[in-house]
Amino acid sequence: MSAEFGSSRIPIDLSTAYVPKGAVFVIPGRCKGCGYCIEFCPQHVLAASEDINPKGYHYPIVGEGKADACIHCGFCDVVCPEFAIYTEEIAPVIP
Ligand code: SF4
Ligand code: SF4
Repeated sequence: MSAEFGSSRIPIDLSTAYVPKGAVFVIPGRCKGCGYCIEFCPQHVLAASEDINPKGYHYPIVGEGKADACIHCGFCDVVCPEFAIYTEEIAPVIP
C-alpha cells in the first residue's frame, strides 16, 4: 500500500527481527502457591518447586530443560498477585 493512503503498517525487517530472551527471578517468600504463573506461561517455562517456602507453599522454578525458553513476555509478572516473580530481558547477541 502506498504512503498516500496513510498506512503505518511496515513489513517486518527479518534481518533485524529477533525473539526476546528473558531471565526469570522469583522471590520465594512472597509466593502463595496459586500456580497462575505456571499455568499461564505461554512457553511452559515454570514448574512448582519440590521445596516449600516459609509459608508452606511450592513456589515456581524454571522447569527442567527450560532454561532458554523464556521470551520475556512478562505475563508471569502481570498475573502474579503477590509480586513474587518477574523477568528481565537478556540482551540479544547480534551476529
Ligand atoms: S516472561 Fe513469559 S515466557 Fe517468561 S516465564 Fe514469564 S510468562 Fe513465561
Ligand atoms: S503467580 Fe505468584 S503467588 Fe502464584 S504461584 Fe506464581 S509466583 Fe507464586
